[in-house]
Order: sequence, then C-alpha cells, then structure tokens
Amino acid sequence: MNASAQEFNRSSKKDDFESPDFYLMDDLLTEEQLLIRASVREFVKKEISPIIEDAAQKGVFPEFIVQKMGDLGVFGPTIPLEYGGQGLDYISYGLMMQEIERGDSGMRSTASVQGSLVMFPIYKYGSEEQKRKFLPKLGSGEFLGCFGLTEPDFGSNPGGMRTNIKEDGDFVILNGSKMWISNAPKADIAVVWAKNEQGRIKGIIVERGMEGFSTPEIHGKWSLRASTTGELVFDNVRIPKSNILPEADGLKAPLSCLDNARYGIAWGALGAAMDCYESARKYAMERIQFDKPIASFQLIQKKLAEMLTEITKAQLICWRLGKLKNEGKASTAQISLAKRNNVEIALTIAREARQIHGGMGITGEYPMMRHQMNLESVVTYEGTHDIHLLILGHEITGIQAFK
Ligand SMILES: Cc1cc2nc3c(=O)[nH]c(=O)nc-3n(C[C@H](O)[C@H](O)[C@H](O)COP(=O)(O)OP(=O)(O)OC[C@H]3O[C@@H](n4cnc5c(N)ncnc54)[C@H](O)[C@@H]3O)c2cc1C
Repeated sequence: MNASAQEFNRSSKKDDFESPDFYLMDDLLTEEQLLIRASVREFVKKEISPIIEDAAQKGVFPEFIVQKMGDLGVFGPTIPLEYGGQGLDYISYGLMMQEIERGDSGMRSTASVQGSLVMFPIYKYGSEEQKRKFLPKLGSGEFLGCFGLTEPDFGSNPGGMRTNIKEDGDFVILNGSKMWISNAPKADIAVVWAKNEQGRIKGIIVERGMEGFSTPEIHGKWSLRASTTGELVFDNVRIPKSNILPEADGLKAPLSCLDNARYGIAWGALGAAMDCYESARKYAMERIQFDKPIASFQLIQKKLAEMLTEITKAQLICWRLGKLKNEGKASTAQISLAKRNNVEIALTIAREARQIHGGMGITGEYPMMRHQMNLESVVTYEGTHDIHLLILGHEITGIQAFK
C-alpha cells in the first residue's frame, strides 16, 4: 500500500518529549551534535508521532516518510557528502537513530537499513560507478533500499546460505530466496548476498524490474507494524556483472555492515526506552489512587529509579562506543554488548512502564505496547540476544560456542 500522510488519522496529543539526562551527558556532546539531535527530535514530533499509532494499528508503512527522512539527512549520515551522505561522525549518527526510534523502531529500521545496510556496503565495497549511480539517490530518499542476507533456512547461521550466482558471460544468474527483509516490498534496489560457483559470498545489487525478481510482503506481524517486511525471490534473475560489489568477498563483508547497523540499534533502543520512561514518569505524577499521585508509592518509585539507572548506563555505553567508532576502534564484541544490553533494558523498561500506566497502558493512547512489540523484533534481528551473548563469550574465552 502506498500510504501518503493524509491517509493516517493524526493524534491530537502533544508530543513534548525531552530526554532524561541524569549524568549531564549533554555536556559531552558538541554544539553540532546537540543541533542534530534537536532537529531530528523536532522532525519526529512533527512527522512521526502524530501518525505512528494509526500506522501501527493499521499495519501500514507510512511510505511518505522515506522522502522526508532523505530531506532531513538521516540516510547514511557518516558517508561523505559527495556520495549523498552528510559526512558526520558516529555520535551524530547514533543520536539520529535514538531520536527516530524514540518515535518508532520501525521508522528507525527503515533508516538503519537504508544507511548502514544499503548505502554503507555500496560505499565500502562498491565500484566508483556504483557509488555515483546509487548513493545520491539513496541518500536523498529518492530510492529505498533493502539488505538481503537471511534465508528461510539460514538466520543465525547466514554462512550456510543457498542463494547463488552462476556466470553467464557479462552477466550472472541469481537464484534463491531471502526472508524477513525490511523495506523489501517497497525497495527500488536490494543489496543481496549470494554464493558464487566457488562457494564465496558476494554482494550484488538487484534492481526492481529485473525479470524473475519479486518481493512478496510478509503479513500478520504483531511487531514493527509500521515497517514493511518481505521476502526476496530470485528466479533466474539475469544481472550485469557490473552490479557485483567488487570489493566484497566472504561473510565478513555483510557482517561488517551489520556491525554498523547494530551500533545504530544500541542508540535506537535507548530512544524507545526513554520514551517509555518519560511517559511513565509523567503518568505517575498525574494518576491519583488512594487520594495520592501513584508516584508517591514506593513500588512506583522503585520502577522509575531502576529505569533511570538503566537508561543512564545505556547512555554511557552509547557515548563511549560512539567515541570508539569515531576512532575506528569499536570491535564487533563491543558492539554486541551494546546492542544486547540496550535492547534488553528497553524491553524491560517498556514492560514496567506499561504496568505503571495500568489498564490505560494497553491502549494506543500511550506508546509502551507499540514499543514493546517492536522491540521483540529488535531483540531478534541483527543477531539474536543469545547470539550476541555467544559473541561476547567467544571474546572472553577464545572458544566459539555457537558452531
Ligand atoms: C521484523 C524483522 C526484520 C528483519 N529484517 C532483516 C533484513 O532487513 N535483512 C536480513 O537479512 N534479515 C532480516 N531479519 C532477519 C533476522 O536477522 C533473523 O530473524 C535473525 O538473524 C534470526 O534468525 P532466525 O529468525 O532464522 O532465527 P534462528 O536462527 O532460527 O534462531 C532461533 C532461535 O535459536 C537460537 N539459536 C540459533 N543458533 C543458536 C546457537 N548456535 N546457540 C544458541 N542459540 C541459537 C536463536 O538465538 C533464537 O533464539 C529480520 C527479522 C525480523 C523479525
């Protein structure tokens, strides 16, 4: 469904979100980073908050947001300006993801996929011609992209993939299928990972309209309902060799893209957690039971205190990881720790915040249920919660426990 802004019922509720800053983390941000955060926060209040509950309830992707996000500059912000990015640092990128996911994880998924999983591999592994052809259109939002790694039989173990390419003169013939692909049903291009005849994993750009390429939508999701997810089906798709990413060879290429996206997820989940916390804090001050605001009860205060503690720890993790990313020193295991921790605390906070809202918390009047359901995907995609734990276990012991 091609949904324009007018197709959604607009909420009359004012979004007056301000992020908690218990440890004065804002003092660690530059003027530019604070400005970027403020502009994305305003964008979310104006464009996402008013329609997101309706979009999620209807299960419709607000496609108009793609162009608007492109205009705002949130696609591939760390990619140089000449290739359609913004030439920004990783903390700025993280803050963007935090603010967008504060609005909705599905909207952040759209931005993460476009920037970290489509633009980044083309920028890092693509030819000059591919970069000039695709990156500016992806950066501006004229094109939407998707990233095809997962297959029906290979999720946590993508190296087992069956999707393959065979040589045919100046072309390759692509066969196979990909599953659970964010943005797929609407994507103009897909960065697809497939094995060549030597069994090496290669990246290839598949363009909508190529014969034998289809993107059926996956229906019935209870999670990321405002994001569109689909399959990628390749039935003898004939693709020019010039669409193969020349510098990508082996599983480490798609995994390097995932590192970037997971970094953004660590910040994004923090955004969802902050939204739930702020909603719960305000509700607890206003809701009267036993003639007092429920905020006056110790058990409510315990919940709020624990939420703020976890949010503050997650903020510190994100900021430090951002510094390491800027210095090119962030390791896969450090990113795993951040993604795993921040999504877990966000899920717990969403749940506790929902309880503070009592019965009202189950409605779309408040954001917790939507965040909670969204986070059920976020805890699974880009490496499941347990796989990240095993990546950390490997780092600690030198012993790989997942193969
Ligand atoms: C909404 C959504 C959007 C997505 N978007 C994309 C996308 O854009 N592109 C893309 O390529 N993929 C995407 N994915 C796929 C996602 O990355 C996979 O779902 C994820 O990697 C897990 O794979 P799986 O679902 O096949 O689960 P499985 O790998 O089958 O895992 C099932 C369970 O077994 C556990 N498990 C598996 N192996 C081990 C082990 N060795 N030790 C211990 N436990 C193990 C897992 O932790 C999990 O709990 C998306 C998924 C969802 C839900």
